[in-house]
Amino acid sequence: MKAVMINKNTSQQAIELEDKYGAHNYHPLPVVLERGEGVLVWDVEGKQYFDFLAAYSAVNQGHCHPKITAALIEQAQKLSLTSRAFYNDSLGEYEIFITSYFGYDKVLPMNTGAEGVETALKLARKWAYEKKGVAENQAKIIVCEGNFHGRTITIVSASSDPDARKNFGPYTPGIITVPYNDTNALAELLKDKTVAGFLIEPVQGEAGVVVPDAGYLKKCYELCKQNNVLFIADEIQSGLGRTGKLLACEHEGVHPDMLILGKALSGGVYPVSAVLANDDIMLCIKPGQHGSTYGGNPIACKVAIAALTVLKEEQLSENSEHLGKFLLNELKSIQADYPELVRTVRGKGLFCAMIINERNGKNAWDICIELMKNGLLAKPTHGDIIRFAPPLVITEEQLLECIAIIRKVVKSF
Ligand code: PLP
Repeated sequence: MKAVMINKNTSQQAIELEDKYGAHNYHPLPVVLERGEGVLVWDVEGKQYFDFLAAYSAVNQGHCHPKITAALIEQAQKLSLTSRAFYNDSLGEYEIFITSYFGYDKVLPMNTGAEGVETALKLARKWAYEKKGVAENQAKIIVCEGNFHGRTITIVSASSDPDARKNFGPYTPGIITVPYNDTNALAELLKDKTVAGFLIEPVQGEAGVVVPDAGYLKKCYELCKQNNVLFIADEIQSGLGRTGKLLACEHEGVHPDMLILGKALSGGVYPVSAVLANDDIMLCIKPGQHGSTYGGNPIACKVAIAALTVLKEEQLSENSEHLGKFLLNELKSIQADYPELVRTVRGKGLFCAMIINERNGKNAWDICIELMKNGLLAKPTHGDIIRFAPPLVITEEQLLECIAIIRKVVKSF
């Protein structure tokens, strides 16, 4: 083995290490974080920042939430992993907790968001063959243009983003794409009797916090019901308080046939994802037909119970709804003052975005660099969009400080 001198005392050294020894599959802002607490994070030089990405909404409960980390530590010292070859004394407790919490018969536990999505797609296909009577190998899944559901081969097969897809073919068949926010187009596609499921993000996160028209989700759900097609909600990013309700589907009273959760299901301390569904769907998968070594491990179970408990105890959905309205109004006021730079703002709850016009060769990345210098971390998406999604534990006072930073930076451009 090669001897390597490791000295990552400064940001520059840490960046160089990642650059030299890590795959180049990300393009991070040049900030090296060492510590976090609530809404705040600190870099290795000790500079403090507001985290306005919250690990893509995994850290809704705030960094290093004491109740969630305590659950992690306690269980890690007792029993961490058994695999599903044996029962463990945490899984059943978690299963009754999460199914009652969201109102489903059963849960299938996985680890990452992408695995949750894959699980839901497998379940939908199995259901289509065994319950709906679709002929073998004919089942189709409808996905939305602009979607982001993860990075596996099947999921990138469902993507319309050239970066996510190009040179990763051949793609998984049986996936058809419908424009987002277009119920007429969906109604047309649903005429095909081989459609098993409709997979949707109730708010498209990675696309740049795209919020569909009021009534869209409800109409999609009704169309699915009329055509015996499963309505599958990917709430990995939009769920768990982010949009001002526990689930974004709740804004329209929709209870999905399958619900996919991840990210904040652990409050950012552990990879935990889940698919929830009722028995008629979930029991289509039998022993040996799906699983994961780590899925449903005791640490994940205890952590998820703690993370969901914190969401309710601290009324984080309510905080997101209340402060989200305030944030959006303030962003609208910034837009009104600087319309040449800020083309649009949009959002729901503490899930907002600002769309930037490129000016004098400066784009959203340059604004994020300036925000960073001023103590606020946000990440651009698609070149011209900046997402603002802080941990939901943010206070009004902190938010005011953050809005002042955003206003100052926009003004400076
Ligand atoms: N689905 C949605 C809506 C997401 O936003 C993401 C991640 O950003 C995923 C799925 C994939 O989750 P993971 O990165 O944990 O695989």
